[in-house]
Amino acid sequence: MGSWIDVADGVLVRRYDELDLSVGLVVGSARCLVIDTGGDAGQGAELAAAVREVTPLPWSVVLTHAHFDHSFGTEAFTPCPVWAHDRCRTRLVAAGEGQREKWARHYRERGEHEIADRINAVRIALPDNLVDDRAVVDLGGRDVALLHFGPAHTDHDLVVHVPDAGVVFAGDLVEHGAPPQFGDAYPQEWPAALDAILALDAPIVLPGHGEPVDREFVRCQRAELAAVAELCRAVAAGTLTAEQAVARSPFPEPFTEET
Ligand SMILES: [Zn+2]
Repeated sequence: MGSWIDVADGVLVRRYDELDLSVGLVVGSARCLVIDTGGDAGQGAELAAAVREVTPLPWSVVLTHAHFDHSFGTEAFTPCPVWAHDRCRTRLVAAGEGQREKWARHYRERGEHEIADRINAVRIALPDNLVDDRAVVDLGGRDVALLHFGPAHTDHDLVVHVPDAGVVFAGDLVEHGAPPQFGDAYPQEWPAALDAILALDAPIVLPGHGEPVDREFVRCQRAELAAVAELCRAVAAGTLTAEQAVARSPFPEPFTEET
């Protein structure tokens, strides 16, 4: 079960214990936009019911990226417009079933059979409203911008900007309460994507995991990511060994080694 936090007028974030996940909701006068759908059909259905407690308006969905915990609950919302970067769709087509097997196995090995069964049962719903660098969604009296700032956490991250509320949903470009995840990441380019988020000048930034943060938090995470990028460059140039780079990283070893 999740719980809503009101962050601005008609802008909410829903927080979950599982993976410390944060998903979003923006409500206009004619439509609402759900930002990420959770990691399985059960989470998606719980979220859909929770959205209905906030608003009866028709919904659209936007996926910040293809990782299972953000995209596997979409089935609970379809049929409806599903926005995502075009490479998010490509990734779900190419790797979605493999991800489903991998994460179902992961939870089964941890003895969490209920979650494993729910992930196993997911039917992956594909995005149909594809974004390149930018799209605007009209929710009625409120425009929301979907923005891609280049490769960072993945090669297809979308950021959701609600200009009238001063809010940015950053997906996993920003993480609070845990280090950024480098598994599919582009460490060299990631800091520039955070510069682009900062340039939106929104006082409230909502990470894909963890609590709402401010611009200062994003500035700090940008500095840490730039340090990781610098270490990666030094390893590539042969001036630092991988072990030295891990020792100097601002993030714990398991996270950095994935780079
Ligand atoms: Zn992710």
